[in-house]
Amino acid sequence: MEPGQKMMRLTCAMLVTLAIIGNCPAQPSRTPSQNPEWRNALKPRGRKAEPITLATNGKSRYVIVTPDNPTSQDIKAASELSHWLGKITSANFQIIRESELAPGSRFISIGSTQLLGNRQLPDLGDEGYAIIQESGNLFFVGGRRRGPINAVYAFLEEDLGCRWYDRYEPDILHVRDLTVAIVPRSYKPVLHIRDPFYWDAFDPDWALRNRTNAPLVKIPEEWGGVTDYAWFGHSFDWLVPPEKYFSEHPEYFSLVNGKRTASQLCLTNPDVLNIAIDKVKALLREHPNCELISVSQNDCAGYCECANCKKIDDPEGTPAATLIMFCNKIADAIKDEFPNVKVSTLAYMGTVKPPKTIRPNERVVVQLCTDRHAWKRPFLTVLETEQFSSALKGWHAIGANTTIWHYTVNFHHYPVPMPNWQVVDRDIEILIRYGAKGIMLQGAYQSPGGESAVMRSWVWAKKLWDPSLKTIDLMRDFVFGYFREAAKPMWKYYQMIWDIWERNHKRPTDQNQLICGIRYYPDIVFLQKQNYLDEALRLMDEARRLAKDPITIRRVELARLPILYAQISQEIGFVDYYGAFQPRLRADADRKRLATLLDDFERIAKIENVTHIREGAADFPKRIAELRHALTFSPDTLQIIKLEDAWRAKSDPTDVGTSQQWYASSFDDSTWTRTSKSGKGVTWFRQRFVVPEEWRSRKHVYIWFSGVSEEAIVYLNGKPVWEQSVRTTAMPRMDLRSRPFYFDATGRTTYERNRHPLLGFPGFEFPKEPWIQYDTENTIAVRVNTSLGSGGISGPVYLVATDEDWLPVRPD
Ligand SMILES: [Zn+2]
Repeated sequence: MEPGQKMMRLTCAMLVTLAIIGNCPAQPSRTPSQNPEWRNALKPRGRKAEPITLATNGKSRYVIVTPDNPTSQDIKAASELSHWLGKITSANFQIIRESELAPGSRFISIGSTQLLGNRQLPDLGDEGYAIIQESGNLFFVGGRRRGPINAVYAFLEEDLGCRWYDRYEPDILHVRDLTVAIVPRSYKPVLHIRDPFYWDAFDPDWALRNRTNAPLVKIPEEWGGVTDYAWFGHSFDWLVPPEKYFSEHPEYFSLVNGKRTASQLCLTNPDVLNIAIDKVKALLREHPNCELISVSQNDCAGYCECANCKKIDDPEGTPAATLIMFCNKIADAIKDEFPNVKVSTLAYMGTVKPPKTIRPNERVVVQLCTDRHAWKRPFLTVLETEQFSSALKGWHAIGANTTIWHYTVNFHHYPVPMPNWQVVDRDIEILIRYGAKGIMLQGAYQSPGGESAVMRSWVWAKKLWDPSLKTIDLMRDFVFGYFREAAKPMWKYYQMIWDIWERNHKRPTDQNQLICGIRYYPDIVFLQKQNYLDEALRLMDEARRLAKDPITIRRVELARLPILYAQISQEIGFVDYYGAFQPRLRADADRKRLATLLDDFERIAKIENVTHIREGAADFPKRIAELRHALTFSPDTLQIIKLEDAWRAKSDPTDVGTSQQWYASSFDDSTWTRTSKSGKGVTWFRQRFVVPEEWRSRKHVYIWFSGVSEEAIVYLNGKPVWEQSVRTTAMPRMDLRSRPFYFDATGRTTYERNRHPLLGFPGFEFPKEPWIQYDTENTIAVRVNTSLGSGGISGPVYLVATDEDWLPVRPD
């Protein structure tokens, strides 16, 4: 066997290593492949070509050749390749036109040069690429958009093992001798939209290098651009603005319960269609490069129930029927002027369900949202919730062009750990199997500092580009490449996150720590059990000790942010779903230690420019101020009365208490048992209390429950004022058992808790008159419902008078 053939059997990583050993680099290692535990998860599969030497002793042996009339993408591809090969080898890789090529020179050809000859190339579509080696020369060719650039980055990442994990620092080789055995290949991505919707993925250079195609990322047209929307997301209010039309033409809008409202449009009204067509055309003329325009329902329910709309929607079983007809008509109306544009429409909330017979035409894209699935069950795959999986299969069965809007983060606590790696991995594969042509994974999109956001962006960019890649391999590639010398403890940490899902996903509901909605609280069971935070912090500390260079230190510290956030939340407090601060600070807490944790959290977050903790307006300074206020607040300023531990209790096995008004002030409970405990099912608890007259001058009187097992509706003086339940919290039952809650008994703060539009709880109207009476008897009644053998009101209940607009500390 000749040496040359033997060499061909070596892996690319080995070749690279050999080259490095041969010539001790002066710079410190920034090379994933120099970490012996790093594995190239992107390694191309297939037969390697004969090794070629691109540079020797810091001198290039190849020139980069473009066509004589290169496209702007050829120029970009050539300059990127020259730039990075130069960084890797310190050599100058000259770019020339092909007519300047000297005979006998070795070359890397970019794009459709004459050098390619009459070679038959596979269909590369818009973004596919091919890498060809012939007679020691390389050819990088690609589809119409970003194809040649994708070829260059496929070579740099997959064959050479270079990485652009984050938007700041490349992780590339530094060698003066570069020999590589490439795998000749071609590849065309199956997804047209590949969108890890994270702040960290919005940088155009990062997106170009990691080959995402995300509509909102501003990759310039001369680099090949992205599949862009002229209008993205909910659009009815923009198409037919209610402020312009509602007063004169209420018939343009939804008829709901016999009344015209501006919730949605009346999609069978011909004037509405004409206004929408004009609006769509006008916007497309302003954005000639856009390929999609969203004609989509508003972010609420309230679909039109007029006779014309009902005539279509009722037999079709969904308001998506009139919506799809409307979109088909708009698509037809614009096709002559805008042949490349498709009308995209959200299948969201009520319109998730596909119509029975009406079909979207080929110029309509259905952007199917996983809202009803992911908001409730983010730790199940999309096939495991009946409602969504039947919608997915339904749209697929009628041949719709679908793209997916998926949700992958806790939108109320961007930094909180989210053990959903396996879920997203499987979902991507499932969604593609059911015909998805685009996938958007909406995460911490407003700010850096989302949990593992850099890693998620990278891993998912790769998975969306090539769904056959395995998430666990990608995670390993990332951890050992990105965290460098500190990788080992970080890998243990990510295995711990991985295991949480492995352990839980098959468990029955009452033992599953991951049965919760996407907006779960940072003191949920899995974050507290198995000493999760202690172990996580120990591993992060170990990683911090191992990190040597400033880049690795910064990366390790950023990875620590979610753990710090969970710890601070659990020991100081956090803002809940409804905007109320939930104190967790106990009287005996070590405030000095917590202040140090908070300082650390703030310091790291500021280095990273974190602006958001939750979705919505920028809130970072506010959140920090709240936490600091809680830490420095003196509990002595609170006036506290403890209610009786022995309530009047009566079990209600047939659940007649509500209809018989067991909550009424005048109800006679004198024969009820004195206890705070209950058995399984519904039990009512009552007691009477007096609020001192001098509390009238205090701004708020809170009622604090240390916990109720499990669901509670609280009545005050005969009126329902609070509900703590699975439906109002999106929390699992097991997590409600020990969860404290409080509300303002003066009625001055209601947080809109039971009328949250997203979850659509039926709720109840809050009383208009003052809730509590001073210096006279008040009645509190609690309807408790437990699924366990025993439950009830677990722990003391306090009345707390204060001028604070939220409780900074626990009163117990
Ligand atoms: Zn209508």
